[in-house]
Amino acid sequence: MRLKDCISFDDVLLVPKYSEIMSRREISLNSKLDNKIELNLPIISSPMDTVTEDKMVNSMSNHGGLGIIHRYNSIEKQVDIVSSCNESSNIGAAIGVTGDYLDRAIKLRNAGANIICVDIAHGHHAMMRHALQVLRNTFGNDLHIMAGNVATLEAFNDLADWGATSIRVGIGGGSICSTRIQTGHGMPTLQSVIECSMSDRSAALIADGGIKNSGDIVKCLAVGADFVMLGSILSGTSQSPGDVIFESDGSKSKVYRGMASKDAQMNWRGHTSSVEGVTSKVGFKGDIDNIMKDLKTNIRSGLSYTGATTITELQSKSTFIRQTTAGAIESSTHIFKV
Ligand code: IMP
Repeated sequence: MRLKDCISFDDVLLVPKYSEIMSRREISLNSKLDNKIELNLPIISSPMDTVTEDKMVNSMSNHGGLGIIHRYNSIEKQVDIVSSCNESSNIGAAIGVTGDYLDRAIKLRNAGANIICVDIAHGHHAMMRHALQVLRNTFGNDLHIMAGNVATLEAFNDLADWGATSIRVGIGGGSICSTRIQTGHGMPTLQSVIECSMSDRSAALIADGGIKNSGDIVKCLAVGADFVMLGSILSGTSQSPGDVIFESDGSKSKVYRGMASKDAQMNWRGHTSSVEGVTSKVGFKGDIDNIMKDLKTNIRSGLSYTGATTITELQSKSTFIRQTTAGAIESSTHIFKV
């Protein structure tokens, strides 16, 4: 058996290049989701019940990105959340591929969602093909349909051919994900992005799962992602759903959980099927504005190290090197503590 060599975020580094950029203000982070929707920031918040409802959609929109409202509630509740969003925003809302998904999509669309996200764990599936056909027959070609998740170029091309306008790439990499442990399946997210970026289809590529910091975001964009989708980085903020928990040691936290975790499944459907996620608590991070400002500054810095003023320039100019385990240790802060 011949095994393919696969690359994870910490296996590689971008090589610093000659730069003439005098100020980060010269750098644009604009990215196109389709022919009509261009965003100022290539960041999308995950459709998870501890990440995206109306407050997150509004914040993401204020910062130039996009929020996708999760689907783990009744149609009425999800429609209410869509209606509470600022209408001047792009509003993304997730649906599944079974049961009431078409009714849900129609009501979300009527409530103002202009991006419908077909959100399933294994997107390269006959049910995805069927759902995309039904949605295209119902809404025509104008509606933006995001779909996923997939891990391979073949899957990316199939979803594009079945009608997806943008595609979420990454299986098993999420910080709260246990798919690889439970099923033995998956692929490092950066590797999936590299392979899917070879596609000749016009669908936008959204790197999703396992993105830990702005360095990982820059790596995703450099290998060909048009956008990144973030869960854990945006969780635990004032704008993510859920109550602040006051811990006995005086610290504050919030819950962040996988949508296929036991807790989440019991909450939204009252029973569990395949458990492929975990529940966790993250330290309370306060207002998301600080996180977004830091991300924007750091991503711009990332482009500047390659001498690129746009994401497209980053993609054409960047080169990568592989680092050893010793290199990865050197790459993280490693000051000895006294
Ligand atoms: P993170 O940014 O690393 O925290 O990953 C977030 C991504 O994990 C989401 O956008 C989903 O694609 C994925 N995800 C969410 N819930 C689960 C789960 O329960 N199991 C596996 N993957 C999940």
